[in-house]
Amino acid sequence: MSPSKVSTIAWDSFHNTVDGKPRGGKEKHRGVNPATGEELWEVPIANQQDVDDAVVSAQKAFESWSQVPMEKRKEQITKFKEHYLNYVDEMTDLLCEETGKPRQVAEMETKGVVGFIDFHLSLTLPEEREEDHEKVMLTRYTPLGVVGAICPWNFPIILSLGKVIPALLTGNTVIIKPSPYTPYTTLKVVELAQEIFAPGVVQAVGGDDKLGPMLTTHPNIQKISFTGSIATGKKVMAAAASTLKRVTLELGGNDASIVLPDVDIKKVAPELVMGAFQNSGQVCVATKRIYIHQDIYDEMLKEMVEFTKTIKTGAPGSNALLGPIQNKMQYEKVQTFFADSKAKGYKFAVGAPEVEQGKGYFIQPTIIDNPPNDSRIIQEEPFGPIVPTQPWTDEEEVIRRANNTNAGLGACVWGKDVERAERIGKRLQAGSVFVNSWEKPTPQAIFGGHKESGIGGEWGKEGIKAYCNAHVLHTYKQK
Ligand code: NAD
Repeated sequence: MSPSKVSTIAWDSFHNTVDGKPRGGKEKHRGVNPATGEELWEVPIANQQDVDDAVVSAQKAFESWSQVPMEKRKEQITKFKEHYLNYVDEMTDLLCEETGKPRQVAEMETKGVVGFIDFHLSLTLPEEREEDHEKVMLTRYTPLGVVGAICPWNFPIILSLGKVIPALLTGNTVIIKPSPYTPYTTLKVVELAQEIFAPGVVQAVGGDDKLGPMLTTHPNIQKISFTGSIATGKKVMAAAASTLKRVTLELGGNDASIVLPDVDIKKVAPELVMGAFQNSGQVCVATKRIYIHQDIYDEMLKEMVEFTKTIKTGAPGSNALLGPIQNKMQYEKVQTFFADSKAKGYKFAVGAPEVEQGKGYFIQPTIIDNPPNDSRIIQEEPFGPIVPTQPWTDEEEVIRRANNTNAGLGACVWGKDVERAERIGKRLQAGSVFVNSWEKPTPQAIFGGHKESGIGGEWGKEGIKAYCNAHVLHTYKQK
């Protein structure tokens, strides 16, 4: 039996969780509702002592949790899932407050995370047996110890539970650090988890940007699973080197979408647009460059512009398709791409060169028509609703153009000739390539970046090994 819906959960006060107990702090900060610009609730800023205490508790919990058979761990994870589902409406409300996402979009995350949990519940770790004339070799995968999970602000629930569940399944204990911009849902998820798991199995420390380095340099944390920007990912890897921690780095992307001349223009145009503007472009694998065959360039762009004009941007309750940019720092960063495109005289196919200023951090989706290859909007990840299109004629040349980036997270190829689309897709240097779909990561497939988009990967059958050491027992035969 999982705990029933209990009234002790307060949805208007928030705390870190250390050793199974609420932990406040002298210093506090507040998130901002990006749809209104209003400050949200206070949350404590964890300090070094909080981190040290959490690590001690996680180490202690690891001694028993790592010995619990996987099937029993799955039972506890299932109870946690059921308990979480009791509160999915409250979680959706909270996610709308902290991210400004339209309610139906927020629900895709709060409810969709169950698919991630269920997939992991279907997995087992392999045990491989090899034998020769003198010995038997048994390869197993054993948990690492204490995992630090450092998360970004664009999908606070999926991206934190996407680390917590495989870490727990494989017998690790985990300390989550949410983004300072979106601490609320993560802190509540971890609070709920305390009613299922023993103290120290899952903990949360939120705070400011001083906190990440406290985790990445801590001698008793064995692994950091980090999702965030390429720049911070490099700092995480450098810091982790001091203790030779394992790292999984899920970083930024500059995803190319290549459109073949045979596509059904009316059908594909809205898909291309949604690939770029899903979650207002704040998706690591959102389409960030669109290469359309010259023969259909004008017509496709026209259809994309028409569809983009129908997209409603607004606050969670407004029936909008897109919400605001999640925070002021990112809102200002995205505006620099508008300013640069305007200053260089690029053509705005749809959207205005200046972002309308209001209370919330809203930006209308914008398409830049054929900027040069060396433009910022082609070279960098804006992480907002602005995307460039360019024409192409030669297959080899467009593959080179798509691959001409330091990033390699996702890519798309669109074409009725699926064989040709797949042939091109196989040559794109990215961890996840989608044929005739925009980028839709799924729990069934390992997700990770090539080049500077990351190290290692998570999810899929292979992803759980990222939370393990290989352990080989060589048993020599008695003569
Ligand atoms: P960010 O790198 O600024 O922050 C990510 C996390 O790192 C936050 O929790 C932050 O507090 C923490 N942090 C900051 N400095 C740190 C340090 N020195 N050491 C350790 N941790 C530190 O990223 P963001 O702005 O939160 O997220 C947006 C970026 O994340 C985009 O580039 C996006 O493409 C990328 N992203 C990647 C994936 C993926 O799976 N590949 C998914 C979502 C987002």
